[in-house]
Amino acid sequence: MAPLPYTGPRLDFQCNVCGYGNTRVPLDLVQNREAASCASCSSSLRMRSVVHTLAMELFGQPLILPEFPEDRSIVGLGLSDWDGYAIGLASKLGYSNTYFHRQPYLDITDAAEHWLGRQRFVISSDVLEHIPVAGLDAAFLNSRRLLTPDGVCIFTVPFEKTGETREHFPRLHDYRIDVTGGTAVLHNTTVDGEEEIFDDLVFHGGEGDTLEMRMFTEPDLLRRIADAGFSSAEVRVPFAPEFGVLWNIDWAVPIVARA
Ligand SMILES: [Zn+2]
Repeated sequence: MAPLPYTGPRLDFQCNVCGYGNTRVPLDLVQNREAASCASCSSSLRMRSVVHTLAMELFGQPLILPEFPEDRSIVGLGLSDWDGYAIGLASKLGYSNTYFHRQPYLDITDAAEHWLGRQRFVISSDVLEHIPVAGLDAAFLNSRRLLTPDGVCIFTVPFEKTGETREHFPRLHDYRIDVTGGTAVLHNTTVDGEEEIFDDLVFHGGEGDTLEMRMFTEPDLLRRIADAGFSSAEVRVPFAPEFGVLWNIDWAVPIVARA
């Protein structure tokens, strides 16, 4: 049986990543954090929210990316950012997208000196939930160390509103992931030499290591950001329906942290 046609509310919006004018997009698609909802560049709510938050932080106004001023003195970087906006940012600003597995390399758990203290902005979008537990404190610390004194870090990460962060592999140390018959299994040897096996793994889309290591909560994230030496952190629910930036939840939204 064919699915019933969508009869709910729809939204017209201009994509702030590519500038395309989308018409009559189902609202539940626009408000889905990860769904491709721009008919031109396939941006999701998360990607449009990153660009909108960056525009407000850098320029104090809701510019779309094609209208960002060309200014290479505004230096920043992304951690495996989505090409959909990374290419636009690189064409406008002194921006580098960086990678864990290829050049330009940046391992946020062990950031090379030449990146540090230079970034007016850092975009860390759905990265922190994939970092092995042993490097997590360093990842938060280095995120702050990358920044200039007036720098800002825009984090997105899946998080729940309350409670304690659930670490899926709290004793992760020496591990590998085997895929047999379409099922991925994680084999871990702890620091104490104990063997652990996990078969209920959650992978997110994207390049490289996309295994979900944990589900954060808001209080824990804010505590970790403060412990890393950031001067402030704000959980932000960006609101710009004209750009398809319209959340119906107040968790897993951007967090803006200032050096
Ligand atoms: Zn678009």
